[in-house]
Amino acid sequence: MTPLHIAFDDTDSRLGRCTTHLAYRVTKELTKTLGGELVDHPLLIRLNPNIPWKTRGNGAVCLRAKVRDSDRVIDYVRQAVEEGSAIGSGANPGVAFLKEEAVPEKLKRFSSFAMWDVSSRQQAEKVARECGIKFWTFGNGQGLVGSLGAMGCMLDHDHTFELIAYRTPKNCGTPRIINDDSIIKFSKETFPHTFNNYDQNHGRILIAPHGPDPVFFGVRGESPEIVLSAMSKISPEEKLEGYMVFRSNQGTNMHLQNELDLRMAKAYTAGYVRCRVKSRPHTIEGGHVIFSVEQSGSEMPAAIYEPTGLAKIAAALAPGDLIEIGVGVRKGTTLHPKILNIEYLQVNELAPIYNVANPLCRMCGRRMKSEGKNKGYQCEKCKFRDQKAQKIITVKERALKPGLYLPTAKAHRHLTKPMHRYGMEKNGFQYVK
Ligand code: ATP
Repeated sequence: MTPLHIAFDDTDSRLGRCTTHLAYRVTKELTKTLGGELVDHPLLIRLNPNIPWKTRGNGAVCLRAKVRDSDRVIDYVRQAVEEGSAIGSGANPGVAFLKEEAVPEKLKRFSSFAMWDVSSRQQAEKVARECGIKFWTFGNGQGLVGSLGAMGCMLDHDHTFELIAYRTPKNCGTPRIINDDSIIKFSKETFPHTFNNYDQNHGRILIAPHGPDPVFFGVRGESPEIVLSAMSKISPEEKLEGYMVFRSNQGTNMHLQNELDLRMAKAYTAGYVRCRVKSRPHTIEGGHVIFSVEQSGSEMPAAIYEPTGLAKIAAALAPGDLIEIGVGVRKGTTLHPKILNIEYLQVNELAPIYNVANPLCRMCGRRMKSEGKNKGYQCEKCKFRDQKAQKIITVKERALKPGLYLPTAKAHRHLTKPMHRYGMEKNGFQYVK
């Protein structure tokens, strides 16, 4: 048996299909017919979520296997990707194969870069050649970036799992009927070992998409066993094609590991920024909150959008507050400057805010009026004059506490680390079949 890493991406379009579904079919063929054995769970890797040409969640897949006849497997997968992709209606697939056991460092570096920055197809081709990776591309071939991004992502630290169940072709496009109560019950019984199945605050089921794609539902969690248990607990009301468990970087904040320098923050990049609030937040139409932040003398506007549920928190920030924000950099236009779209807000230190009031009259207790600069105060009621009276300065109580603030579950990106996972991060992985 020889090692073979197989990765592909960009097989789908908004009209249907799904890269993970193709991975499910390829895995089935690979292990059932072609005699291959997986050495890790199929990987579902989410890359930079700010890439404008993504279809939905910027996901790519990688299968790490041992195979008997690698050329036969490569032929089969290449053809499956070509035939199973929506080429011509928006998909630009790339499929890549590495016949080594160890993943080259260069490929790992390319992958961590693709997590938060923008890579070109040419850069991907160069890395592929240098690492001895065989690849094929179709359409404009941009899918090669995602393929290499997935192949180079080892997930040897934090990771999660997702069970994805697939619909039969005849059911695709029809409404998904699932028993909501069974999801709510499952969610309550298995939290925090599964997550984002149900948004309690909004009474919304989160596991099922709404489009024409073949995903029936996806359940996320901390182990293969817990996500697999969903198949017997959640009752689908249609016959499914099958299901598969992926290992993934979803729910890990992997795209936000890099500290951004505001002087050179490029459009579409992701990362975190430690900064001070520079201007007072203001709320614009739609309830979104805008304020500017400063890092080492560089200033940039930042936005917290209303659907995150964090607008009230953001509005309570004040100039001087020390914060850390997870962000995506939105491209500037002729109408708007580049802006930091905030994904999490960590308030580290609140700046003191003061209330300043005129002194009270020593004779009658009424508030006094200033007589002019350095001229003292006079009481408007009893006319008592006081040359020595001073303004009363008190510290204002803040409507905000230091701490971490995250968007509500329905506004989470695939990569967003939910609050309860802080402290639950994994630090290694061993595949046991
Ligand atoms: P789905 O979630 O349904 O799988 P998707 O959102 O993953 O769809 P794709 O159709 O795969 O969308 O398109 C994403 C495209 O962006 C791919 O061509 C992928 O190679 C490319 N891409 C991913 N990450 C980067 C990056 N960091 N820089 C440049 N291109 C990227």
